[in-house]
Amino acid sequence: MKKNSTFTLLFSFLVFTFLSSCNNENNIISKADNVKLPDSAKEVVTIPTPGTPIKYDSSKRYIFLTWDDAPQPPASNICKRIFEQQGVKATFFMVGMHQTDNRRKNFVDSIRNAYPQFLLANHSHSHGFRNKYKLFYSKPDSAVKDFLYAEKELNIPLKIIRFPGSNTWANNGKIKGPKSTLRTAKILDSLGYHVIGWDAEWEFINNDIPKQTAEQMIANVNGLFNSKRTNNPNCIVILAHDRMFGTPAHAAELEKFIIELKKDSRNVFETIDHYPAVQGKQ
Ligand SMILES: [Zn+2]
Repeated sequence: MKKNSTFTLLFSFLVFTFLSSCNNENNIISKADNVKLPDSAKEVVTIPTPGTPIKYDSSKRYIFLTWDDAPQPPASNICKRIFEQQGVKATFFMVGMHQTDNRRKNFVDSIRNAYPQFLLANHSHSHGFRNKYKLFYSKPDSAVKDFLYAEKELNIPLKIIRFPGSNTWANNGKIKGPKSTLRTAKILDSLGYHVIGWDAEWEFINNDIPKQTAEQMIANVNGLFNSKRTNNPNCIVILAHDRMFGTPAHAAELEKFIIELKKDSRNVFETIDHYPAVQGKQ
């Protein structure tokens, strides 16, 4: 009898402990339900995935800042910081073979994780066989493989490519650019990729010195919008290279360029997944 009652007591204790813990869990869940989320936490929940279409406003002018050849520290980091400080969106077309160490890998990751402000896109693995563009585009199958390799090693979220050394466009069967690049463009287009060229380039001299001043670039942008000479009305794709803004003086020019463009309330900065030919057709 004594043994039995001890057993019953122990069993009752275990059942009670189990039920109490279940009850606690319910309490925790119901309490958590009543907690009001701060606005910042709600924003985290609603982050769009890259490629989510946006609605256009015909009274606006859409500016796509597309910066090539990253990761190239410290200039890439400087460009990113300026875009962040100014609160503008931009696209980084990156080169796989430039991801040579952890510092650079961290930069690539930071851009990929910063969508919707930044978009990571594909600028090939080898930068066109290390700038041997003629050879690169004469071997379309190798060129395509080079882009696919970059897509994997950089973990690029969307099928958006910029050709190294060539202003070539390919979107949904519409292909244009230098003849030598068209075979490669056609294959990529048939595989569902978008190849994005540019309307205006902030050029460089001696590898990394901006050729135009910020004022000249602003005049260039306004001139192209006003004369409707961009590839798509009310949209302008601007090409520059991260490495051009590595010194304080050149970084200041980039800052000035953005500050001046922001003064015009028609201007909206967007990532290239929202370019009309790309949008909604990933
Ligand atoms: Zn390049």
